[in-house]
Amino acid sequence: MADAPRPTVITTRLSPPDRGPHPERPSATGSGVPHTPLRPMWCCRADGQPWPCGEARLLLRVEYDGNPIGLSIYLAGLMYEAMRDLYHLNPHDAPDPAALFTRFLAWSRHTNLEPR
Ligand SMILES: [Zn+2]
Repeated sequence: MADAPRPTVITTRLSPPDRGPHPERPSATGSGVPHTPLRPMWCCRADGQPWPCGEARLLLRVEYDGNPIGLSIYLAGLMYEAMRDLYHLNPHDAPDPAALFTRFLAWSRHTNLEPR
């Protein structure tokens, strides 16, 4: 008796998501320390300000010129990573989601999200 063909297994479950993007932007300019986040505190490794600092925001705007959607995706991934790090650092005083949204994403919003 021949084996009946096995039905194709179709799963509706997604695999566990990978970690967010590596915080390697904005790229270093010149020989100075790059304005990238120092984890797990998420302060700027160049000036100690909460990341993204003013300089990082300027540099990110330049790096993602014409790609505001890419910038938002990058920042959203890092916001997720920051939430995880900051929560683990201090679970009794977890970061406020609205404050993290303002810090990571609100400043990057463009009125026109169409790529140029
Ligand atoms: Zn900085």
